[in-house]
Formats: sequence, structure tokens, C-alpha cells
Amino acid sequence: MVKKSTGARDQITQNPAKDPQTVQAADDASAPSQSRKTSTRKGEGTKRRTDPQGVELPAEPAALTPVVFRADASATPEPPADETPQATGLTESAQIEVEALASEVETTAPPNPPETSGSLEAAAPETAVSDALPAEAETEAMAEPPPPADSPPAPDPQPVLPPVWRPALFIIHVTPELASVAKVGGLGDMVFGLTRELAIRGNHVEIILPKYASLRYDQIYGLQEIYRDLWVPWYEGAIHCTVYFGFVHGRKCFFIEPHSQDNFFNRPSIYGYHDDVMRYAFFSRAAIEFMWKTNKHPDIIHCHDWQTALVPVYLYEQYQALGMTHPRVCLTIHNFAHQGLVGPELLRATGLHRPERFFSHTQLGDHRYPNTLNILKGGIVYSNFVTTVSPRYAFESKDMGQGFGLEPVLHTHHIKYGGVVNGVDYDIWNPEIDHHIPVQYGIDTLDRKYDNKRALRHRLLLADNEKAIVAFIGRLDPQKGLELVRHAIFYTLERGAQFVLLGSSPDGRINTDFWGLKRMLNDSPDCHLEIGFDEDLSHLIYAGADMILVPSRFEPCGLTQLIAMRYGTIPIVRAVGGLADTVFDKDYSSRPLHERNGYVFNDYDNPGLESALGRAIACYRDYPEHFRELMKNAMRWDYSWNRPGQDYLNIYDYIRES
Ligand code: ADP
Repeated sequence: MVKKSTGARDQITQNPAKDPQTVQAADDASAPSQSRKTSTRKGEGTKRRTDPQGVELPAEPAALTPVVFRADASATPEPPADETPQATGLTESAQIEVEALASEVETTAPPNPPETSGSLEAAAPETAVSDALPAEAETEAMAEPPPPADSPPAPDPQPVLPPVWRPALFIIHVTPELASVAKVGGLGDMVFGLTRELAIRGNHVEIILPKYASLRYDQIYGLQEIYRDLWVPWYEGAIHCTVYFGFVHGRKCFFIEPHSQDNFFNRPSIYGYHDDVMRYAFFSRAAIEFMWKTNKHPDIIHCHDWQTALVPVYLYEQYQALGMTHPRVCLTIHNFAHQGLVGPELLRATGLHRPERFFSHTQLGDHRYPNTLNILKGGIVYSNFVTTVSPRYAFESKDMGQGFGLEPVLHTHHIKYGGVVNGVDYDIWNPEIDHHIPVQYGIDTLDRKYDNKRALRHRLLLADNEKAIVAFIGRLDPQKGLELVRHAIFYTLERGAQFVLLGSSPDGRINTDFWGLKRMLNDSPDCHLEIGFDEDLSHLIYAGADMILVPSRFEPCGLTQLIAMRYGTIPIVRAVGGLADTVFDKDYSSRPLHERNGYVFNDYDNPGLESALGRAIACYRDYPEHFRELMKNAMRWDYSWNRPGQDYLNIYDYIRES
């Protein structure tokens, strides 16, 4: 499938859409993104306004203007019949989803191909809810490599839907990361992409983040001091902060700079300090204090991860009584592995006090460690809606032991919990317009991809030959399946292909390990390991490699496979989290041929990895035409922000109405 026009339901585990109109907006939003984005962006920046302190704020788009979404069926194939949008109530759909998932996973744990046959999407929420697993006859027939995937059939004409009007919302994202000024991983990309999507749909969007010393200041336009004396309560006193305003690629950003001996953000890196929990507890408090002092009453405050999960706690425990009764809070959890654990000093520092209340298991009291407060848990309890970054990870975190101890609280609050697959910002990650790569290309000019492959080899001093290039880009974190990455390097070389790695770790031991590996392979003309963070090089790798490997232990969403697909670089992934939701195996998927877009394995071990990587390398070498069709399939998938953008608006509408 190239692009779906309907079915907000299958991307968000618990569909908050309350009426057919809301769902229709999701349909309309599937219109090709490029033209809409261009036209809307041109309209930005037309109004000026003054903040309550009399400070003139830079231009902003006309908010509160009703927006019309027009149905546009172009490039939007018909969805499978069982994916028609549902206007069911949240509770009902959530229950169906979870029950279906539980029974699917219990009864049909998928094996590794090719040793055994079966659908690798057995437990994928989309499949679990609405699609039966493939019949036995069908899976047997797939023991042989299937014929090349044909071009997708021409989409059936879509009905022309009447325009849908919706009021614009005022949305503030409070976040520890934002690409391209302060990015550590996918969180930064997500906030960057979602905020643009919400803005081009006519909403007023602002972002609040810390003023890190390590900000990429060259990426901020018009940075200026906008609020000089923000005093943020902290312990018995208050910390003096200055707030700056600037545009990050058109996004309106407020940067909070505390002036204290704690030196919260004036440090070389974003994370990795012993007082991280207190740094972000302070930032969250400063963000909401800034909203209150400047009389900002957003419709929605959208928080991200434990770093900002105290915002809803402050809102409902402290600021509601001060008159902030309007905002509703959506919390997105990008990774359950990090939760923000802290002792009672948090309550003293923040003025929340009342340990008898907050240490309770119904509040912030951690389930695993006594006398410990869990900030992420507080975010789940106090937010009006909680999302994570794929339906499959929503299920795994709640029901498959991937919640790192938060399973009970997710069960308690399941009614306001769901998954939305992240989008990719195709203004940044698009080989047709990417200025980081030497030769732009698209699906109709695929041969030009090979110029980028040559450029990549030239840059990394690899031999220029007919071999496939397998790449890995990511944080060198145990989550990413580092043992399998290591094995994949040697296996790839053995199988006559080349390997490129770009990654880094804040953990010295891991970095040292990979430096050792790099030295060991230094003389190989077919391998290059680049230890570090290099956004520019990552673009060239996405464009120049043939395959991207994502063998994660767990993967909430995963962006690398989504970006790679846009560049016609075939993902080889383990069937977990967002990887299972977005990659469909060429040989074993139950999906139609034209929807298959990569290689998938199930077991976290070397044979599992080899089962997928071996097939990919063999296909590239022995069936180049098949491989080329697979590349085109991958490029046709629409993983833009169109659909997740609408899913988030549905959530916002839902929590505003309820
Ligand atoms: P996570 O959020 O767990 O780090 P994701 O796959 O969601 O993983 O997002 C990773 C993002 O960070 C992608 O945009 C990827 O290209 C980028 N990235 C990761 N490591 C590096 C690196 N060493 N250099 C450049 N970009 C990187």
C-alpha cells in the first residue's frame, strides 16, 4: 500500500475520533503534503501581537481561523475494506484493540523466516485488530521467493468529500529536544515534524525548551530576549530566568535560561548528569510559570517524556488554583526505559510537598523502588491523554512487559492511552530536494541513487564495486541491539557486501568497544565505522546505502527505517514496536506484494538476524529487478506527518471535549 486515505483508527490504538466529521478530517489530511505545506507556509507570519508584559512578539500566523481540509484522492490508493474509519467511542475501540492484540500474540508468536513460514506481522496492531492471519496455504506458497512486486494498482477513485471546518487550537509543546537545534534522537525529530504539521493546519503552535549552551545557534533565526525577569519558585526561594524567543525553521520557540549556581543548562551536553531529574523538574516548572506569568492559556500543552512529565502535575496541583483552568495536557512517551526517578527532595524543591499524597501508588510512588517518586508515572496519572509512538509499542508497554514497571499504571489509565506512529518530515528527509546529498533523485530517477552510493564510498574510502552497502545509523545504546549490529558487520562482509556504521554513545565503555572494532576493521576496503554524531553524513548514508539495519531489542517507533524507505534504502528490522508497525517482509508478509517494503526477523539472536539480512543481500545480488521493485515499494509509502498530525488533532479535540 502506498498511502492510505482513511483509517485513523489503525494508526492510533485508541481512536479518540468522536464523530464521522473528525474522521473525515483525517481522510482529508492524507492529501499530498508538499503542495499544502508550501502554500500554507507562505501565509505564515502575517500578524503581530504583544505579550501581556507589553513585549512585542515576532510575527505569527493568523490563529483561530477555521481551516478547510479538502479531500484529494491523488496518490492515495484505496485502503483494504476492513480499514474503513470507525467513529466508535474511545473505550470500546480501545478494548477491542487490546483484547485482539493479546489473543493474537499469545496464539501466534511469529517464527523467523525462512526456517518457518508465517506472517511476521502476526502481532502488529493493524493486523491484529482487523486482519486475520494469512491462511496456511498462502504462507506455504511463500516458501519460494515470490515474484517481483508489481507496481501498485492504480488507486480507485475516491469520493469527493465536502470540506471540513474545525477551529484552530493554541498548542504549546514543552520539550527537552528539538531538531535541529537540540537533537539527541527521535524525540527531537518528532517535535520538529509534528509542530510544523500542526501549524500548517492553521493551529497556533509554540515550543518551549531549555536554552542549552550546546544549542545550534546557527539554526535559530532572530534570537532575542523577550522576558527578562521570570522568577521561578524553587525550594524556599526562586531562580531568576531569562526567556528568549527565536524561530527554528519557522517554528516559534521560547528558550528558558536559568541563572543559578546549579548551572542547569549551561553544560556541554544535553543529558548525562547526576542531577538530570532536578534540571528537568526545574525546566518543567519554569515552562508553566512562564505560561502563567505571560497569560498564555493554550488549549493544549503537549509534553514529551519524563523530562517534561511534571508539567501536568504542576498544572493540576498548583496552577489550576491560580487560574490556569483552560489547558488540557497530552503527554507523549518516546521511551519507557527512562522515567525520572527521584527521592523526596523533589517535593521540597518544587513546593509540591505532601509526601503522604505524592508517594502513594496512585500518584507518583514508584512500583518497583520504595521511597521513590517516578516522574513519568506522574505524567501518566495527571495528563488528559497519553500517547506513545506506535500502536505496537503501546501494546508492548502495557501488556508485554515492556513498560519498565509502569504496566499497572498503564492498565489503570488504559482508557486515555494509545499509540501513534511518528511521521517523517519530508521537507528535510526527501531525496528529491535534499541539499545534503550530491545528487537528488526520486522514484522515477532511481539510477541517480547510485551516484550517491559512489559519493558515500568516496567519502568513507570504501572500494567501488558491485557490492551492496548495508548501513546502521543510531545511538550506540543496548536498546539498539548492539550484539546483533556487531555480528551483522562480520556477517555482511562474509556474504560479500559492505558495511557502514554511524553512531555514538554517551557510555564510554560502549564507545571504546566500537573504537576497538573500528581499528580491527580499519584496513577493510568494505567497511567503515564512523563513531560520532554527524547529521550531514547521515543524509549521505540514507541516500547511498542499499539497506539499513535496525535490529533493536525494543523500538518505540524508530525513525531510521522510515527515513531510509523514503530514500529507497531497504530496512532490515526486528519485529518489535514501531518497526513491526511499519516494515512488511518481502517474502513472508501477509500484505499484498506492492505493500511489502523490507525484511523482518523475530528472534533476538544471530540466526534470526541472518535469516533476514541473508535474504536481503541475496536478493540484491541474485534478483536485482526484484530488489529494485522493493525499493520502489518502500519509496511509495507515505510516512509523512499528514496522518499522525490528524491523529494528534483528534486526540486534542477529544480531550478538549471531554
Ligand atoms: P532514537 O530516538 O531511539 O534515538 P530513532 O530511530 O527514533 O531512535 O531516531 C534516531 C534519529 O537520530 C534519526 O533521525 C537518526 O538519523 C538520528 N541519528 C542517530 N544517531 C545518529 C548519528 N550518530 N549521527 C547522525 N544522526 C543520528
